[in-house]
Amino acid sequence: MTTHFDLIAIGAGSGGLSVTERAASYGANTAVIDYDRLGGTCVNRGCVPKKIMWYAAVVAQTIDDASGYGFNIQKNGFDWAALIKKREEYIHNINTWYQQYLKDSGVTAIDGHATFVNNHTIQVGDQHYSADHIVIATGGRPTVPDIPGSELGITSDGFFELTEQPQRVAVIGAGYIAVELAGVLNSLGSDVVQIIRKQHFLREFDPIIYESLTASMTSSGVEIVANSPIKALEKDAGTITVVTQDDTRIEGFDTVIWAIGRDFQTDKLGLEKTDITVTERGVIPVDPFQATNVPGIFAIGDIIGEAQLTPVAIAAGRRLADRLFDGQTDRKLDYKNIPTVMFSHPPAGIIGLTEAEARKQFGDAVKVYQSRFTPMYNAFTEHSPETAMKLVVVGEEEKVIGCHMVGLGVDEMLQGFAVAIRMGATKRDLDDTVAIHPSSAEELVTMR
Ligand code: NDP
Repeated sequence: MTTHFDLIAIGAGSGGLSVTERAASYGANTAVIDYDRLGGTCVNRGCVPKKIMWYAAVVAQTIDDASGYGFNIQKNGFDWAALIKKREEYIHNINTWYQQYLKDSGVTAIDGHATFVNNHTIQVGDQHYSADHIVIATGGRPTVPDIPGSELGITSDGFFELTEQPQRVAVIGAGYIAVELAGVLNSLGSDVVQIIRKQHFLREFDPIIYESLTASMTSSGVEIVANSPIKALEKDAGTITVVTQDDTRIEGFDTVIWAIGRDFQTDKLGLEKTDITVTERGVIPVDPFQATNVPGIFAIGDIIGEAQLTPVAIAAGRRLADRLFDGQTDRKLDYKNIPTVMFSHPPAGIIGLTEAEARKQFGDAVKVYQSRFTPMYNAFTEHSPETAMKLVVVGEEEKVIGCHMVGLGVDEMLQGFAVAIRMGATKRDLDDTVAIHPSSAEELVTMR
């Protein structure tokens, strides 16, 4: 027997939960299928535990800074295991909350691994399910390279399973996760070497981000080894050695973390039994309405290979449900001008085009405003990371098309500016806004 729903989502992460919950709010009969804890990567092995670790790292930094403000404080150790226990309890509570929330919302939660039997039917165990609308929201998993000894390393998933603090860590990779984990571990007192295969990390970002962040991270103790693709990991007398392509050996690690990107989880879905197009990389291409090439089948979240961010998956899921079940026929997510924050040390906030992207698109019509300064907070602290900000504007009216910031507080600063930029703010609009003084944010409305 096949049980039929109005909508089924495969994957109970940010995308799957949001589309089913919003659809259910319109009275649709929905189900979400997952074999893991509710909440997906973000809740269980991503944003949430990461942010808790980031807060811990900020506390550690603040204790170090305290003497500059006259406090006589000594850090008498850090209990990693105690923090991890509390963190996992917090996450467990979110998992439990979701179970009740789904029940209260009328969404059926199905526990198990979903595979397609054909374009319209899904199998979980020996049960068959069909739906008018099927949403694939299975996300990704960390990539492990196929090189000798790679199994000696862990991934971000493994990082969140560490019950003891690593002493000497190699973080391999150059993206969000590598930069965030290197910063957290360094602030909490581990000895961190970040190994990148090119000249800079975050190469796709505006140079103001990676230049400033590299300086701040290096001055706070992270060793960055550039231009070093990895050939192998080896075990030597109880520690791990990283061997680079030019046979340099970087020795003595108790932990090596692969943070080199994420694979798309489309391989175990039985998609070969359907007509759904999947790229070689495992991405499911969709149109602006999240529709795949098969009518009635949609994909949202990381699996579409674009803007792999929790709020993007949530927004796409909700808009899809608005369209399918609330008659909002043109409702879709605009993938332009998506703000994003990296919880590095200090944090970075980005929206819109980099200077290089803007110049490629608009040539000489582009102008940039930038500012680099030491925040007032750091006037008295030993460690003094700079704040750097760049506004990219275009045309005579100087419409703001990019904002790139790194520094203390930019993580909370960006959201409001993102609203203004999405609404089409010009440099003049920023200039006409009275500054909040003294703050770092005021730089954004006073740049000349
Ligand atoms: P990313 O794709 O951001 O970065 C991985 C980088 O690692 C690549 O860009 C590449 O940089 C480098 N790399 C790739 N392969 C290798 C290799 N074999 N050896 C060494 N380096 C390699 O992946 P992440 O895993 O960091 O993050 C995945 C996604 O998760 C991000 O795109 C982001 O959207 C999301 N995320 C968002 C966060 C947030 O919003 N705060 C936090 C964490 C993740 P290069 O080519 O320069 O070497």
